[in-house]
Amino acid sequence: MPTIGMISIFDILHNIQEVIFKPRDSAGRTKLRGVNLMIDEVALEERAVHFRHTNSVGGLCWRHSPLVDLVLRTYESALALVKKIQSGHVHFAKEMTVVAASLFGESGTYPILALPTCKVDMTADDSSTIYQVVLEAWERSGAVQKVGQVWSWSTDGDMMRRVAGYRAFLAQKLQPTSPIYGTLASMAGLNLYTGHNEVTLDFDFKHIFKRICTLLRSPAGIVLNNGRVINPTMLARYLIQLPNQNTESVHALLFPHDSQHVPCAVELLLSVIMVGKRDYGSMDADTCADVDSLRLLASVIKSILEPFTNTTMSLTDQITSLATFSHLSFTLFRCSRLQYMSNQLYGDSQTMVKNALFCLAKQQALDPTQPFYLFQVGDDPLECLFGKLRMLGGHNSAMNYAQAIDRLGHACDLQGAFPTVAAFWFEP
Ligand SMILES: [Zn+2]
Repeated sequence: MPTIGMISIFDILHNIQEVIFKPRDSAGRTKLRGVNLMIDEVALEERAVHFRHTNSVGGLCWRHSPLVDLVLRTYESALALVKKIQSGHVHFAKEMTVVAASLFGESGTYPILALPTCKVDMTADDSSTIYQVVLEAWERSGAVQKVGQVWSWSTDGDMMRRVAGYRAFLAQKLQPTSPIYGTLASMAGLNLYTGHNEVTLDFDFKHIFKRICTLLRSPAGIVLNNGRVINPTMLARYLIQLPNQNTESVHALLFPHDSQHVPCAVELLLSVIMVGKRDYGSMDADTCADVDSLRLLASVIKSILEPFTNTTMSLTDQITSLATFSHLSFTLFRCSRLQYMSNQLYGDSQTMVKNALFCLAKQQALDPTQPFYLFQVGDDPLECLFGKLRMLGGHNSAMNYAQAIDRLGHACDLQGAFPTVAAFWFEP
């Protein structure tokens, strides 16, 4: 169901019923799961569309369209709308904000809200509104009893959503009466603050990897506790010494054409880990200091990257590694503050680790016999859904709001026909 005008709880209730309940019922899926809600945006063609079922105009921004009447009653109502658009009171949506649910231990991505967004004067309060309305709809729909509790809210690190996320999901301390308190309260340094119903905030791990790479690729670089600046100039000197690297490949790692390219980011991080592993023989004092800081950086990177890329690790190894990252990162941030990482990246990466710990503890409390896959944290399933939307348009990313809604519906139907990697994983 498209959202026409202001965000509406009834649209979300309808979508939960149609997109989650019905397909899960017909597939005979009755097991209660932990729910990860994800939020992200996809680009829209800026144009108005007509929705016949309500005889109204869609594709205008949700934030400002309450200022106008979107129903096409007469010819005059169309002219009035045009005037409002021309005067800038209401805008064509540039993007569609999608909220989707994915379930821990089960395949499938379920979009439950698709909001046309203009990005004009958007504030953290608007993001808070989205978080609140969706969580309220989840409770009112009966999804808690039918599907499961919401465990986490994942986002990519958008500024407004971050502000709203830290506000909403660090509001109250985990109570000693909670079934997960015993496990989590004994973990040294773990932040026990959550949102209502113990929902935790999550930042997508792939985005965090990219942001660490952005830091490494900046002239200011990363400074660890011995004062060495690890930036492209310094890294180039050591990356070139690795087997299989040459001037061109090192340049491609440090100055990629597309800094959003995740495989390239992971390759840079893996190369830094290899730099840390090398035996440098006898060194002068200067090289010694460089190598010291590179080895420390390599352990920090390895501890956050490996749990998501090394498929031979056990869940215990993965969690131990993430905890290692948290402690190392905490110490380095205490020593070097912003020279080590920005506040945002430091907070977001710690939040990501904390969320993984909370989700695992919740799975243990809900049903310890069910599998828990670390890669199910984050908002990647939503990014995959956006990939399908583009694919359905013949890889033409331009789509208007009506087409986007249509493709979301098809993408949901396709989930059964083309099992995702996760589906092969869970249901061999
Ligand atoms: Zn607007």
